[in-house]
This record gives sequence, C-alpha cells and structure tokens, in this order.
Amino acid sequence: MNASPYTLAIAGVGKIARDQHLPAIAANPGFALVASASRNAQVEGVSNFTDIDAMLAAVSGLDAVSLCAPPQVRYAQARSALLAGKHVMLEKPPGASVTEVEWLRELARAQGRTLFATWHSRYASAVEPAREWLATRTISAVHVRWKEDVRRWHPGQQWIWEPGGLGVFDPGINALSIVTRMLPREVLLRGATLHVPADCSTPIAAELDCIDTDGVGVRVEFDWRHGPVEQWEIDVQTTDGLLALSEGGKRLSIAGENVELAPEREYPALYERFHWLIAHGAEDVDVRPLRLVADAFLLGRHVEVEPFGR
Ligand code: NAP
Repeated sequence: MNASPYTLAIAGVGKIARDQHLPAIAANPGFALVASASRNAQVEGVSNFTDIDAMLAAVSGLDAVSLCAPPQVRYAQARSALLAGKHVMLEKPPGASVTEVEWLRELARAQGRTLFATWHSRYASAVEPAREWLATRTISAVHVRWKEDVRRWHPGQQWIWEPGGLGVFDPGINALSIVTRMLPREVLLRGATLHVPADCSTPIAAELDCIDTDGVGVRVEFDWRHGPVEQWEIDVQTTDGLLALSEGGKRLSIAGENVELAPEREYPALYERFHWLIAHGAEDVDVRPLRLVADAFLLGRHVEVEPFGR
C-alpha cells in the first residue's frame, strides 16, 4: 500500500454517498477524505464547497475525486476533475450516454490518470463464485427478475424520471452489470418493451429480450411497481442444474444447494480496487451494461402507462 494515503474528495453528498461511500472511505487507510463538493450538503471534518470547480481550484495536492451525484451531471464533473489532473471514480451508471463515458476514458488516458467506472453489484459475494461455476457449464436459459418498490428505494428523487435518469434501469443496470460479468458469453439485446408513466420521461418497468452469442435466451424483467419484498434474482439453467443468484447477489444456490459466501462488502471492495488502479496506473471502464440500456432505449417499444404522480 502507498506509504501516505491518496487525498480524496467526494462530489454529490446524498443517499449513496452517506450510506456507502463515506463509511467505506473512512475504513480504508489508503484514502484520506479532505474535501466535498455538494450544493446543499456538507461532510464533517473536511473542506466543503458548493461547486466542484471551486473545490478543484481551491484544494491543493488533491489526488482523486469520487463522483456520487446523479448521472446527468457525471460527465461535466468528471471532465473537470480529469482536466484538473485528478484520478476519478464514477458511481454507476458511469454517464448519461455511452459516448460520454468513452470520451471520459480517452480524456483520462490523455491526462495519464485513472478512470474507474464502478459497478458495485459486481462485488456482491455471489458474483465471482457464480462466474467461476458457469465458466465450464452448458447454459440453456437465463432469467433476470429485478423488481422493487420505487417509492421505498427512491423517495422524492426527481432525477430518475428525467432524461438521463434511466428510470427502472437505474436499479436494472445493476442486474445487467452482474449478467455481463457472470455469464461466459456476451449478451445481445433483440427487443424491449418500456412502460413509461404518462407524467415521466423514463420507464417504470421494462422487459428485455436478449440472447447470448450462442443464441441462448436471456429474458429480463425490471419493475418498480413491486413490493413489499424486493426480487433481485438471476436464474441460470444449465445441464448441471439451476444456478440461482438472489437478494442482489447476497445469496447463491447451485443445483438446490446453498453456497456459503463471503460477507457482503461491495463498497469497501470498490475503494480497494480504486486504490489498486491508481497505484498501478490502470483504468477500469466497462460500458457494456450501459450499452445494453442504450440498446433497450433504441429498440424498445414504448407503452404509456398510468401517471406515477411525482
Ligand atoms: P441523490 O441522493 O438523489 O443524489 C446525490 C446528491 O447529488 C444529491 O443529494 C445532490 O446533493 C447531488 N445532486 C443532485 N442533483 C444534482 C445536480 N443536478 N447537479 C449537481 N449535484 C446534484 O441520489 P443517490 O441515491 O445518492 O444516487 C446517486 C448516484 O448513485 C446515482 O447514479 C445512483 O444510480 C447511484 N447509486 C445509488 C444507490 C442508492 O441506493 N441510492 C445505490 C447505488 C448507486 P446537493 O443537493 O448537495 O448537490
């Protein structure tokens, strides 16, 4: 580990920053949080700014920035940070469009800085054991069900319903990040149905019809009108039995047997990875989950459903 910690700032201090990022940073001796940029929130014990550009100009010796605001402002904030010579970690989704993320990757390379486009769900305990088991299996079908109550998980958030906010793909992209990591072959989207409330710009539910590169069906169902118990499940049928990932990757069973998993530590693992990437002059930018979402918006049939009442 680096002898002295990397100095870090966080931008967009809201739900995920408080729930996950700040505790994970505090527990990681490889980072020292020194500043925050958020229009309305402050972090105790660091220099606080209401604007990321003001922060970048004022804080000398800052190594890295972690961006936790909604995706619509991700590109502008990341661009400023990279141009200021900082390493950058992006919450998911890494941008509001695929092109934004690709441009950021090029900019990071030109600046000689690390860009880490995080997919926190890939660090759920079940994902790597599932990936290893599936690597040598014959898969016959995949079924993804990612369903939850939007009023419970996104109370009062307006950005999810605006263009770039992704709607139900905001949690759904977590499932796609697992699928693109866990399955041994690439996934192609062939069609989609997007259910868009009359008073919103983004879908509240979606069904995706995909295949892998061997033609195996991958059926995906996302729904934000579900509850009270969340359904975050991926079933993979194989000739050696069913692999069932559930609870967002906290549980795994294979052919009816529960697999013992390591304790949950998605965000601590993300910061360990960010530290490693910086120390090794490396990048980690995988746009495949976002590209599948973009393809769903390109190929999807839009169906208007009853207003959400935002
Ligand atoms: P949030 O609380 O609504 O937003 C985070 C903060 O970003 C807000 O408190 C706000 O702070 C700032 N912000 C909002 N709109 C902004 C704008 N237009 N310009 C600049 N700053 C703005 O959202 P969140 O739930 O933390 O989600 C943020 C990101 O994390 C999303 O991409 C989401 O997909 C991802 N994420 C969320 C969760 C979760 O459980 N919530 C889990 C994993 C990942 P100020 O008003 O102080 O500027």
